[in-house]
Amino acid sequence: MSRIVGIDLGTTNSLVAHVDAAGIPRVIPDAEGRRLLPSVVAYTPAGIVVGEAARRQLARNPARTIYSVKRFMGRGGEDVREEARHVPFEIAPSDEVVRIRVGDREVTPPEVSAEILRTLKQQAEAHFGEPVHKAVITVPAYFNDAQRQATKDASRIAGLEALRIVNEPTAASLAYGLQKLAQGLIAVYDLGGGTFDISILRVKDGVFEVLATNGNTHLGGDDFDRALVEWLLADIKAVHGEDLSSDPEAVQELRLGAEAAKCRLSSEERTTLTIPFERFTYRREITRAELERLIAALVDQTLGPCRLALKDAGLTPDQVGEIVLVGGSTRVPLVRRRVEELFGKTPHSQLNPDEVVALGAAVQAHILAGGITDMLLLDVTPLSLGIETLGGIVSVLISRNTTIPTMAKEYFTTSVDGQTAVDMHVLQGERELAKDNRSLARFDLTGIDPMPAGMPKIEVTFLIDANGMLQVQAREQRTGKAASIEVKPTYGLSEAQVAQMVEDSFTHAEADVNARLLIETKTEAETVMNHVRRALAQGGHLMSAEERSLITGALDALRAVEESGDRDAIRERTIELNRATEPLAQRMMDKALRDAVTSRRADDILKRP
Ligand code: AMP
Repeated sequence: MSRIVGIDLGTTNSLVAHVDAAGIPRVIPDAEGRRLLPSVVAYTPAGIVVGEAARRQLARNPARTIYSVKRFMGRGGEDVREEARHVPFEIAPSDEVVRIRVGDREVTPPEVSAEILRTLKQQAEAHFGEPVHKAVITVPAYFNDAQRQATKDASRIAGLEALRIVNEPTAASLAYGLQKLAQGLIAVYDLGGGTFDISILRVKDGVFEVLATNGNTHLGGDDFDRALVEWLLADIKAVHGEDLSSDPEAVQELRLGAEAAKCRLSSEERTTLTIPFERFTYRREITRAELERLIAALVDQTLGPCRLALKDAGLTPDQVGEIVLVGGSTRVPLVRRRVEELFGKTPHSQLNPDEVVALGAAVQAHILAGGITDMLLLDVTPLSLGIETLGGIVSVLISRNTTIPTMAKEYFTTSVDGQTAVDMHVLQGERELAKDNRSLARFDLTGIDPMPAGMPKIEVTFLIDANGMLQVQAREQRTGKAASIEVKPTYGLSEAQVAQMVEDSFTHAEADVNARLLIETKTEAETVMNHVRRALAQGGHLMSAEERSLITGALDALRAVEESGDRDAIRERTIELNRATEPLAQRMMDKALRDAVTSRRADDILKRP
């Protein structure tokens, strides 16, 4: 069983987890026993520093210390202009991919994230005493393709293969075992240090579907801390007559003290804050009720997005069956009360809200590794789906890891003149050639009007519903003739097989691509030869005997290498044949144009009274 870890690559903190020998998901701590790795990377003259050490020197080295890099993943320079205002490091001006300037070099967000992933990888390797190469990584449900791809790139740079990119709310639900519900509606409320996300999910037969997401990318526990700091500054002024608001070091001290006091007030009714300043020591008792008054408006700001997400999902709060709390700030009792009031039921909170996403990623990793074989669990298609095209190659319509439900449409045509039927062969897998993939279904589309090759327009639609059922339909546009089939792509497929199929595609990648390119080159050669033969039959009389023999010579030359498997030779001779045929094509086009012009004149004549 190959080792696969689950990683929560967070905005503020990141974690790595695994499922232990007893089948229990656990966070893997670092050598000092710390479970959260601050998502901070510092580029210092002495080298790259990641985590707590980087966070500690943030104040000293703000221009070279990157935090919140997740906010920049997979985004363009233009998209992040507003975001860039919130950070002290420099975003290099660019229309394309975001680049962060650190001293005299520039780094991309995936490179920075890769440093975090590499640290987690090493943490896991130290724990297991063996190398780790594979991971399941979580991303917010609202991440688009580019952001997911950037996360995969980060993983690749770190030397980790991201077997799955899983939505954070899905992972949190997995940690609570909610995939076992036959059917249910889940709200995942995620309030961290600086971001708030609400996701509404539907689970049915182990398949998660994201119905709606909403949130606020700049709202979280940091705002609670800020509110408390403001209050403390006012109190210090009143009691000690000192205004510390423009003393950055004092404010920083207060912020650390405020955050610690806030955390204590989650489990205690009152706490004492003591901060020694140069001229005096500030001591103050704070009650939970006082804190709640300060943060009530902020907590209420999370409720609007919750209502909007419910509305988008077409649901009322009482229809939601399960509520999952994620993020450190959901430890605040007021937050829990408000969520409970809104949905009218008690949220799941047994698991550590900082760890729940990583634990769920570990559960998914465990399933992928074959630890749980009786259950295939997905909210994405585990393998690519496509159809066989000319020469036995696969044309993919829905790629691996696409979130379901999903639909894809593409147009195909025939390869032989007068062809009245096509064989639709539905395939699953990652290999380039049809024969190396799993055959899911076959059906015929018949009754196509006889037309020259390339003329019919056949629309092929793949539709996967939320239950993972795949419906394939082929429809010829001119006659409206259609045929379809329905299959369950995951039927009889275990996660271990899926992992194996994906692995095979990596092992054979180079040979597969070469085979595909050869077939494509041959198909192209075949098509050109057919065209030339047809053109010769129709317009041969427009050529001199010499020109004709030049074309037939080029045709013979191409035919001679066609079966050789020498792609360069086939391509070269195809180009030569095209070149030899140019005068013929030109003349045929001229003739067609002349004919068109003549017939237009005829029209004109007819129109006259
Ligand atoms: P996360 O982004 O999920 O790691 O959450 C970090 C936020 O959770 C920070 O604002 C922390 O201050 C806050 N937090 C952590 N533990 C507690 C706690 N016991 N009570 C209140 N807030 C907490």
